[in-house]
Amino acid sequence: MAVAAASDIMEAIRNAGVVGAGGAGFPTHVKFSRSVDTVIANGAECEPLLAADQAVMVIEPAKVLAGLRIAMEATRARRGYVAVKRKHERALRALAEAARREDGIDVFALDDVYPIGDEHVLVHEVTGRYVPEGSLPLEAGVVVSNVATLASIADAAQGRPVISRYVTIAGAVARPLTARLPVGTPVADAIALAGGPLVERYRVIMGGPIMGRLAPDTSAAVTKLTGGIIVLPLDHPLVRMREDDSRVIVRRARAACCQCMSCTETCPRHLLGHRIAPHLIMRAVSMGPGAPPDAIASAWLCSECAVCATVGCPSGLSPVRVNQALKQSMARKGMRNPYRNSKVAAHPLRAARRVPSSRMIARAGIASYVTRHEDDLGETDDLGTPGGRAGAAPVTFRPDRVSIPLLQHSGVPAVPCVSPGDEVEEGGLIAEIPEGKLGARVHASISGVVTGVGEAITIVAGGSKR
Ligand code: SF4
Ligand code: SF4
Repeated sequence: MAVAAASDIMEAIRNAGVVGAGGAGFPTHVKFSRSVDTVIANGAECEPLLAADQAVMVIEPAKVLAGLRIAMEATRARRGYVAVKRKHERALRALAEAARREDGIDVFALDDVYPIGDEHVLVHEVTGRYVPEGSLPLEAGVVVSNVATLASIADAAQGRPVISRYVTIAGAVARPLTARLPVGTPVADAIALAGGPLVERYRVIMGGPIMGRLAPDTSAAVTKLTGGIIVLPLDHPLVRMREDDSRVIVRRARAACCQCMSCTETCPRHLLGHRIAPHLIMRAVSMGPGAPPDAIASAWLCSECAVCATVGCPSGLSPVRVNQALKQSMARKGMRNPYRNSKVAAHPLRAARRVPSSRMIARAGIASYVTRHEDDLGETDDLGTPGGRAGAAPVTFRPDRVSIPLLQHSGVPAVPCVSPGDEVEEGGLIAEIPEGKLGARVHASISGVVTGVGEAITIVAGGSKR
């Protein structure tokens, strides 16, 4: 049964365990607690190879708009936009058709540049406003919510919890595809669903190939945040870049950075007028203890988009890894981002320096994974990515076993409310938000028997203990 009042809807979102599906998993019932004038549904999906958000937009456009309407009502926003890349014609058409009946909601066609889905970049592209550096879009009167999150909100309003999501399985696999996978699906099962790996020795990136994280192994599980499972050969540069020790990365920066500034000239946050200049950070780390503290602290302003390392640096250096290392080090020391400036203005050459996605794909060494998939399809596909089958009936996968992490979101882990041996129904609550804490509820993604409770809850399918 549908719920109507704003407070009821917020409660329904909380009860359903909805978290930001495209970012750090911030609990949605908390995010929507402030008033703004604009909500942007983020369907940019700017990471190459992924088509999970496209699947949501093509298959469930009405749900995305219903979720957007709820978000607008909760935040009292009068304007709503669904931002989707112009090249994703099927998603654009589906959303434009659905939005024809919606007052105050427009579909905004984005250019095919990377990282156009970054919240600071997106808000500027869609509204012309600037989000102050080091701040959230709220400070510019905007809430940005991923399209998959909004579809989950629409489900939540109907009493349906988040127990599955679209995931693109791509890279060095036999049959790249986008499927609806229960939360907790083992990565090994997902790769098998995509026909298995094409190489013997490989690593898996959870998320997009550029900004995703290496999975420790294939026993890792799909979470509410997993938009992609990318299989890459062990010696692929995107794997090596992640595996290199941060001390080695910093040593290389000291030895080889020629201060050409190419990283800064292409940095999307620098081009928005934020006070980050990666070449100055590289110089600062070369100076050791005498480094200017301001330059080191400006690493907080890094979005970790990796443009500097992938497209910018001609010497193969990785300012993004240096920034990650600096942020971790500053966080360990209890330091916080001191940069807050609402008077930002874009670089005059920003438009010309935006990075086309095709350049990012070529420089990242993943063009063959796009091309090969299109060959497999035997036709040019509207979605233009390995998730091209999103427009067809979605593959819905039923694993024998799921392992559902208790921490898939910002905040503290959920507290289990089931024990080994308990029988659970699909959609049933298995872990609760601790009293007074930031967190999200967790639900059973399949029916079965709980066989383990630790950092994750393991459920084996069926009604009998195996
Ligand atoms: S990763 Fe590099 S390009 Fe991206 S914001 Fe950080 S410094 Fe700039
Ligand atoms: S592009 Fe590379 S070499 Fe040039 S300043 Fe940046 S890190 Fe140094």
